[in-house]
This record gives sequence, C-alpha cells and structure tokens, in this order.
Amino acid sequence: MTQSNKTYKIERTCTVCHHVEKLFVTKREAAFELFDIDKTLGQKCSNCSSTTFTTAYERPNLDLDLLKEWAINSDLYLMPQDEELLLADEQYLDMILQVLDNITIPDHKRDLLMDALCVIVYDNTNEDNSQRDDQLKKRVIGELNKRQDKLRLADDWIMDYIKDVVYPQLDFDRQNAV
Ligand SMILES: [Zn+2]
Repeated sequence: MTQSNKTYKIERTCTVCHHVEKLFVTKREAAFELFDIDKTLGQKCSNCSSTTFTTAYERPNLDLDLLKEWAINSDLYLMPQDEELLLADEQYLDMILQVLDNITIPDHKRDLLMDALCVIVYDNTNEDNSQRDDQLKKRVIGELNKRQDKLRLADDWIMDYIKDVVYPQLDFDRQNAV
C-alpha cells in the first residue's frame, strides 16, 4: 500500500466569497516553505476571481534530519522566518546541541542556533512568563558556558535586549565576550 506523504495542509480562503482551496505538501516542504501557492492554486479565487486571501499553514515539528538539512544548507529557511524564535524550544534543545557539536555548518546557521539557546534562557528568565522553567534555564546556561567560543562568534547576531538578560547569568562578563 502506498500512502501519500503530502499530509501537511495549507488552506487558502478567499476574503471576498470565502471559498476555501487546499494544498497538501510534505513535511519537508512545509518546514522550509518549499511550495508556491499561487502557482499551484492559481493567483485568483477559482470561484469569484478575487486575488485577496487569508492563508492558514499547518506547521510541522522539526526532527533531527530536518534540522541538520536546514543547518547545512544556507538556502533553506524555516517557516515562520523568525528562525531563532522557532528554534528556541525545549523540544529542539538536544537536536540543536547535536548539530552544533557534530556537524560543520555555515557561520550564519551556527549563530542562529547559539541565538536560539540565548532566547531559551531569556524566555525562562522573564518573570512575566508563567511557564518559565528554572531547570531548563540552568541547563541551557551550562550548555552556553561550554560553548563560549561559539557564543563569541555569534555576539553580533544576538539582540542587545537578549544579551542584557542572558550574559550576566553566564560565566563571563559582557566585556570579555565581545
Ligand atoms: Zn472568491
């Protein structure tokens, strides 16, 4: 039995007549936005020819293979495109560390992964975050301390408001990090 692996749904709704059109893509296509809605469904609503739509995307969770593929290839982008925010998630922590330590990847991707680790610390320091997880924060601080060389290289990439919260919690001060 063959089963289609195009299981991720993209739904485009016409804002004029509310006609809905659907497109199914693979996990990889959905993760990296490797599809062209206009090309597949046409630029106009098939019902009323309007060209204004709202679009809903089903977003897959990344697995190690997808993260590796993204990390190695500079031409691949994660969807949505605040990549470090998407990656700043406990479920990706082990994968991120594995990729950082075992694979040669472009500088920009390495910086993004280091930034994602800082964002995890930031999010779990923020007192407004009722879900904050002190264990997780401590673990990621430990992982950042082990990778100070990589963090220094990512320094220009990381936003100041993140650094202001995260760096004082690390085993070096900001002066030395630059
Ligand atoms: Zn329409």
